[in-house]
Amino acid sequence: MTPFAASSAAPRSLLDLSFAELEREFVASGISPVHVRSLWRALHRKLQSDLAGETGFVPPLRRWLAANLGAGKRFHFDVPTKMADIASRDGLTRKFLLGLDDGQTIETVVMGYHGRHTACLSTQAGCAMGCVFCATGQMGFVRHLRPGEIVAQVRHAQLALHAAGGPGLRNLVLMGMGEPLHNYDAVMTALDIIADPRGLNLAPARITISSVGVVPGILRLAAEKRPYNLAVSLHGATEEERAALVPVSQRWPLPELMASCRTYFARTHRRIFFEWTLIAGTNDSAAQAERLAALLAGLDAHVNLIPLNPTGGFAGSATNSAAAKAFQKVLQMRDIPSTIRQHRGIDVAAGCGQLRAEKSRGELVAK
Ligand code: SAH
Ligand code: SF4
Repeated sequence: MTPFAASSAAPRSLLDLSFAELEREFVASGISPVHVRSLWRALHRKLQSDLAGETGFVPPLRRWLAANLGAGKRFHFDVPTKMADIASRDGLTRKFLLGLDDGQTIETVVMGYHGRHTACLSTQAGCAMGCVFCATGQMGFVRHLRPGEIVAQVRHAQLALHAAGGPGLRNLVLMGMGEPLHNYDAVMTALDIIADPRGLNLAPARITISSVGVVPGILRLAAEKRPYNLAVSLHGATEEERAALVPVSQRWPLPELMASCRTYFARTHRRIFFEWTLIAGTNDSAAQAERLAALLAGLDAHVNLIPLNPTGGFAGSATNSAAAKAFQKVLQMRDIPSTIRQHRGIDVAAGCGQLRAEKSRGELVAK
């Protein structure tokens, strides 16, 4: 290949490339990889949206961009467009609906308490796992997100926070639309980019991957000793009760899932978070709390109890606050730490997949 040659392959987003991949691209084009650093800084630190306007680039870098970036060339730099930006009435939650280049939409939520902002990212358009109470599960699987489409969500969140004049993002949770471990490679590339200290620089210890329990993915996280936190969505402590809510439990049954969590802990020594969506009369009894405590015995576990956010496709309702506290009390007696996470921002449909669902029903008016 001659230096700077254009190719006929479908163009990729510059945001899809890790630092190491960009270095390889530069070497293949015959320019020094030392120039990656200033491009990376413009993309991921300064969050530039127009590279042509960047004045600090040395001539070889400008030539590489002229030859490789733009219509008909190897790379593009299109970021998802903001289709809705809605703040909750209490001002603590802000939700973005982002439009992708193929017309798909995904959600990103920014929550801010005490100046500590957390972004909740999507990893897929739709989801194949079919959890019965989840708005994303109810819409089915559409496609995996590319790394750049995950990175772009952090960019949007960070730019919005900068524009508001406050502190930037501190925590990231992969708890938006989709199952992160079903899109393992793209998610890991995205996190490598997001955590890179030369760019967005989010601390790996403040990044949490939430999984419905894709056992091969959990084992791979453990084998690769990835520096991120893991949250596992349980919702049931017997196979039968869990499978009624989480159909993929049939594929990766509870004993296998718990064994993978123990392997993960043995390899990483990292506490595991367990999520439990509280549904009135379904999984919120004292006996069920006892079974959950027994399941987690001996693990360094923290349980997040999330009262159900009602969705159109599921008839259940949320456990009330007194019953949630009673459930928590049982865990406490068994020395299992837990937090009741009140879903804030229900007025902006901040539950997983709910904004997209409302938008497609035409019920939502963006401000
Ligand atoms: N697919 C991953 C991450 C996205 S869902 C997973 O399932 O873990 C993030 C969390 O939100 C999961 O614990 C999920 O069970 C929970 N969730 C989904 N829909 C919900 C709803 N309507 N009410 C309360 N929690 C919900
Ligand atoms: Fe997918 Fe998670 Fe929703 Fe289940 S809860 S359908 S795994 S996004």
